[in-house]
Amino acid sequence: MIAADLVVRNASELCTMNGPAGGGEAAAGIVRDGALAAREGTIVWAGETSDLAARVELLPGAEVIDASGQVVTPGLIDPHTHLVFAGDRAGEFAARCRGAGYLEIAHAGGGIRATVEATRAASEPELLRLASARAERLLRQGVTTCEVKTGYGLSVAAELRLLRVIGALAETTPLEIVPTLLALHAPPEAGAARDAFVARMAEELLPAARGRCRMLDAFLEEGAFTAAEVRRLFDAGRRAGFVLRLHADQLSAGGGAELAAEYGAASADHLEQLSAAGIAALARAGTAAVLAPVSTWVLRLPRYAPARALLDAGATVALATNMNPGSAPTENVALTLGAA
Ligand SMILES: [Zn+2]
Repeated sequence: MIAADLVVRNASELCTMNGPAGGGEAAAGIVRDGALAAREGTIVWAGETSDLAARVELLPGAEVIDASGQVVTPGLIDPHTHLVFAGDRAGEFAARCRGAGYLEIAHAGGGIRATVEATRAASEPELLRLASARAERLLRQGVTTCEVKTGYGLSVAAELRLLRVIGALAETTPLEIVPTLLALHAPPEAGAARDAFVARMAEELLPAARGRCRMLDAFLEEGAFTAAEVRRLFDAGRRAGFVLRLHADQLSAGGGAELAAEYGAASADHLEQLSAAGIAALARAGTAAVLAPVSTWVLRLPRYAPARALLDAGATVALATNMNPGSAPTENVALTLGAA
């Protein structure tokens, strides 16, 4: 008999994650009417509830939890968030409902730039307080690992400041925080030389950030950054040993997925406008497709990312809240899963 001080039983579905690798539900290793037993914080047995009594012996004072009608799963991972920011952009939601588009709002001074202003005006303790509340809401929904991007700095110093806040968040929340340096998020103010901006990010920011985060990200999009600019950053990032990620093919088909695959990026994110060639490239390269259906919805984009086609092609598909003040102002994981 296996001795346990904690037992969870009668779960409608127990996700063991030990099923066969590859796309599809089988990988989750789901046990119907499942149970698990733990001792001193370590899982010592998992199986069907009907086998529990024959296999597991309860230690004196053991806790028994009835999970009838519920799913028991390892902690969820939110692989794409922008948790650290100040201000809100609810007014843009109203503008979109009146028919304004993403780029139109950005050109009118809204969008990412509005959040950059509010974030620059907030102190580090205030940014930490705001981000901690958002992290807490994710934690309550079962998220235990959360990726958090910079990107509302738009200068070397301001981006490093956001990395410090993310570092402070990692130290104060029970969540496992994975920081990402979103070095190219919005192009510089009108008149500022784009080349000089990209060069500063690639040559000054990357070395300064290297000790504080492993992931590097960029926004390849009409109105954001071009493929040539992303390549310049990625070349420098690869040399410095960063793991690459890319906001790709969200508003327009820009070959972002193909570029991410070519660089062996860990993920290409968004992908509403993903082409057939892009699907094949992601599947071939093993670059995960991170989809954020709530932002597709909030932005009223004409189509969702082709999740079914990605899965059928053998690509890895992950879901994210993409929590941010513009296109997904919510930490609601259930909403993300429902939309997916
Ligand atoms: Zn994003």
